[in-house]
Amino acid sequence: MKIPKTHPRYKSLLQREKLIEGVENGVTATAGLIAQGRGEAFDYLIGERTTENARKAIRAAVAKLLLAKHPVLSINGNVAMLAPDDYIKLGEVLDAPIEINLFYKTPERVDAIKALLHEHGCKNLLFGDNTRIPTESARGFVDSRGQGIADVVLVPLEDGDRTEALKKAGKFVIAIDLNPLSRTARKADITIVDNIVRALPLMIKYAEGYKSRGVPNIEFNNRENLMGAIALIKERLADETILD
Ligand code: ATP
Repeated sequence: MKIPKTHPRYKSLLQREKLIEGVENGVTATAGLIAQGRGEAFDYLIGERTTENARKAIRAAVAKLLLAKHPVLSINGNVAMLAPDDYIKLGEVLDAPIEINLFYKTPERVDAIKALLHEHGCKNLLFGDNTRIPTESARGFVDSRGQGIADVVLVPLEDGDRTEALKKAGKFVIAIDLNPLSRTARKADITIVDNIVRALPLMIKYAEGYKSRGVPNIEFNNRENLMGAIALIKERLADETILD
């Protein structure tokens, strides 16, 4: 479907189209469409923009990733469709591998994501499942060269069980999740409450800046930051001009 650029919901519709394409070519699970829908609802509530709160989390996350010994960027079918180029670029700037980790894992989906990322120029890609993190599900299998040895893991659009498992395995977890109430958002050490398509370019920008000027030591309290996101939503909903 061709979406005119002038459409008021152009950016959001474009993301939907990409995910539908992802389902058609086997990259995205159908449940990924539901996850995006849930994200969109929260995006409306925060005003479809990167809040100052999210920027604070982005700065803290980037500094942590740059200071990590073994940073790893986890990728699933939604991320692969929504922002492959920015995700690959972020991996390059941070010198971190990208590891495919899927909730609905099939060899075909892994192959489809691999092919897509290679097409987009990804050179540092992991997809093994030869070691475990503590969780009951098949998702406990990770790559021994990636999340198996990682000290800091970026998990965009992740579910709560895996976030918890990564925490149990002693990892520092950074989430990107539009829902400040999700289990992932609450369990992660740093949660960036923003749409991944807006957050990634900023993460790249801060990473490049910190690499040339030095990495700051940033104090961050995730609970406080999530409360800030919730307060902003409450404030917006209480504003009588919200429908104008
Ligand atoms: P949890 O188990 O953590 O409570 P969940 O059951 O909602 O979460 P999923 O549906 O797997 O788990 O989660 C996907 C998460 O990603 C949702 O919380 C959703 O808000 C968020 N999300 C979806 N699309 C985007 C996007 N484009 N950018 C950022 N976050 C998104």
